[in-house]
Amino acid sequence: MDYDVVVIGAGNGGLTAACSLAQRGVKTLLLERHNVPGGCATSFCRGRFEFEVALHQLSGLGPAEKPGPLRHTLSKLGVVDQLEWVEMDNLYRLLVRDDLDITLKADREAAIQTLQERFPAEKDNITAYFDLVYQFCIELITIYSSRDPEATPEKYPAYFEYALMDTQKVLDKFFTDPLLKLAVSIYWGYTGLPPAKQPFSDMAMLLFSYLELKPYHLKGGSQALSAAILEKFLQSGGEVRFNCGASKILVEDGRVTGVVTEHGETISTSYIISNASTISVYTEMIEPEHVPAEQLKKLGGSTIGPSSITLYIGLDCEPQEIGINETTNFLCASTDMEDAFTACWEIESHNDYTLVSCYNISDPDISPPGTSQVCIVDLKYGESWLNIPPHQYFELKEKVAGQILDRVEHYFPGFREHIEEIEVATPITHMRFLGTPGGAIYGFDQYAKDNNMFTPPRALIKGLYFAGAWAGMGGFQPTLTSGTTAARQVLKDIKRQAGVEI
Ligand SMILES: Cc1cc2nc3c(=O)[nH]c(=O)nc-3n(C[C@H](O)[C@H](O)[C@H](O)COP(=O)(O)OP(=O)(O)OC[C@H]3O[C@@H](n4cnc5c(N)ncnc54)[C@H](O)[C@@H]3O)c2cc1C
Repeated sequence: MDYDVVVIGAGNGGLTAACSLAQRGVKTLLLERHNVPGGCATSFCRGRFEFEVALHQLSGLGPAEKPGPLRHTLSKLGVVDQLEWVEMDNLYRLLVRDDLDITLKADREAAIQTLQERFPAEKDNITAYFDLVYQFCIELITIYSSRDPEATPEKYPAYFEYALMDTQKVLDKFFTDPLLKLAVSIYWGYTGLPPAKQPFSDMAMLLFSYLELKPYHLKGGSQALSAAILEKFLQSGGEVRFNCGASKILVEDGRVTGVVTEHGETISTSYIISNASTISVYTEMIEPEHVPAEQLKKLGGSTIGPSSITLYIGLDCEPQEIGINETTNFLCASTDMEDAFTACWEIESHNDYTLVSCYNISDPDISPPGTSQVCIVDLKYGESWLNIPPHQYFELKEKVAGQILDRVEHYFPGFREHIEEIEVATPITHMRFLGTPGGAIYGFDQYAKDNNMFTPPRALIKGLYFAGAWAGMGGFQPTLTSGTTAARQVLKDIKRQAGVEI
């Protein structure tokens, strides 16, 4: 065999998978189509700005004295202490027309107090809701970490009552004011489904994780994290090839035997971890006769998640000058998030749910003195963009960017005239750079039925594993940890094959 394991794709999941394997002495080759590591976790330069592509608020890290699961994962890889982490004080500022302007601290008691001051009629409901979120998450973590064989409704009442409920049902049970419901569920965009479609467990874990372990960014942005993991991989004897995509996965008798690169080279291996999407792997990379029908059926049961219109902007002023005082700002045209979700399917931008991140508030060094870096994200499904004729594409892109800027201008007057650099990415751009179907940024839509609880991401072809958003859940924390999980599974398999006791 040329290599014990070939990892396809150097996004978060591919990088942590490759690094974990190399650190355990496994001969590993990492193939990446692009010329830099990271996938979404990267940056690019325009003028005097280096723009962060994807990371807004890192979850699961936690401070050194109270480490979260992601800090453990990154510590094991040896990268935590090499990086300078930036803790954010606040969760977010939410602006809904002239009806609501609220900023929540990344602290349970402080967040509750702010909400109670703004919504005094629902004071007790607010406390009860946060109590539920905490109880639910602690039960969920206990069940999963202890693999409790006697998990009963008596022992874990909140988990059994709410695990399969959607967020909206829980909000309706606890609250009456639609503004309050929105104020505690605005993080839905971080998983891609609105409250009426999002599993409550996803919303509860997001809120719990950011409140308990705080949101983070890091100096040098997500590119620094990707580079640090790659460096550890190389120091451990791993090999990487950039500008070298995998075009075929070879399978014989239901078992992986190798990879063909886009340059036509065949590399033999018994194990592959794919950070490329399951859709590409099963519909393009493996010959149809080797793809189990059951696998295709499973694939057909999931839907491709959203991409986004993303505006990367360098301003020639400090953020405070135009009223941006928080790192994370959500702008909503109404409290109707079903409407906002419908807008994700439309090309133009009217009722959209908009995220405006200004990194300088937490990290003043992210752009040159006297400037600021802003990233604006509107979730959009890629499907409608695929039908745009090339001659209309640029005009449409400018038009949609203009609509988004109009909205931002309403909340932050003067924004437009301070734009020094702007780059607009559409679902087509994300598709081009990530290679994901529809430019999806979180993998499949994250419905409750798609949860790993019901469909563990084990492939039916022997030796084939997945890491990254398509293996479970999108977002930094899940994809980074999915790589180490896949590496563990491969190691077990290698040892089993070699007859080593495990
Ligand atoms: C604009 C934007 C904003 C976001 N905001 C946040 C946020 O605030 N918080 C958060 O947690 N998440 C956020 N995300 C989502 C998060 O970044 C992604 O879910 C996550 O980084 C995906 O990681 P992944 O491991 O699935 O790999 P990806 O990032 O999808 O990378 C896959 C890699 O595989 C490579 N590849 C694909 N096919 C092949 C092939 N055939 N051969 C070789 N290489 C191949 C690609 O080039 C790419 O480098 C955002 C994403 C975007 C784009």
